[in-house]
Amino acid sequence: MKKIMIVILAIFSILIVSCSKSDNNTSEKLILVGVNFPSYDLLRTLNQGTENSVSMLLPPGSESHSYEPTPQDIIKLSKSDLFVYTGGESDEWVNKVMGSLGTKLETFKLIEAVPSVLEAHSEAMEGEAEEEIDEHVWTSLENEKLLASKLAIKLGQIDTKNAELYQENAKAFSLQLDALIAEADEVIANGKRKVIVFADRFPLSHFVNEFNLEFYAAFPGCVHESEASAKTVAFLIEKVKEEKLPIVFHIELSDSKLAKLISEETGCKVGEWNTAHNLTREQFDSGITYLDLFKQDLALLKEALN
Ligand SMILES: [Zn+2]
Repeated sequence: MKKIMIVILAIFSILIVSCSKSDNNTSEKLILVGVNFPSYDLLRTLNQGTENSVSMLLPPGSESHSYEPTPQDIIKLSKSDLFVYTGGESDEWVNKVMGSLGTKLETFKLIEAVPSVLEAHSEAMEGEAEEEIDEHVWTSLENEKLLASKLAIKLGQIDTKNAELYQENAKAFSLQLDALIAEADEVIANGKRKVIVFADRFPLSHFVNEFNLEFYAAFPGCVHESEASAKTVAFLIEKVKEEKLPIVFHIELSDSKLAKLISEETGCKVGEWNTAHNLTREQFDSGITYLDLFKQDLALLKEALN
């Protein structure tokens, strides 16, 4: 796959250089691209009331960690006024593409705008023991506030005539986030327990840190482990039984096999926690937002803690 990408980059870099020089966006409207759903949602939120074009690079319904840009994606990026991306392990390809563009791409990296948190590990978890930075910064609501405020400044620098509007949109979003934080605090404070179990990968270190929740999961971060060992499975089953947990979670767009197995063994319910990497095509077309997803997750969390 990597070799194919290098060939694609070589073929298209010449084309892109000539394209981007002659077809520079001369209209007043900005072309803004977000790599995945969280980046896209932030851009869309901050651009309410503007005529700018906001799009998502990742096709809805696809797995964000195995994404490779198509030649069309690279051309799209070369014509953008700002590209917002995570800046972690999953979009290391961005550096290669930027090197081949021959023209400077304006970017905003989520991971550099918020405090770093290491991938959280729990007992009997699979995968490498080495500690890595958790790139899923958007799973913290406090981070979302910080991201919106810093991205609003960046947008205002590129598009001074709308600078005030970006600030207002960031403030309105921040107030909505504050209301959700208060709601989450209440759910957690009134919960009978503080522990959740994920029979899946666990890209939620920022989230559990923010709300002081305990967790057990099969894999750290978003590593591509396909099968959990018998030891891990037995441990998670035991945890669900011991804590009498009503829900075992899996993340969105996952096969949820392990969660179903644990559910069969323990009688608990299976719940999908949407960590917002990406949406299904249907969700995307319906205009669902980051805030909508968090509200759904929070309703399930309330059930899981009681
Ligand atoms: Zn991930």
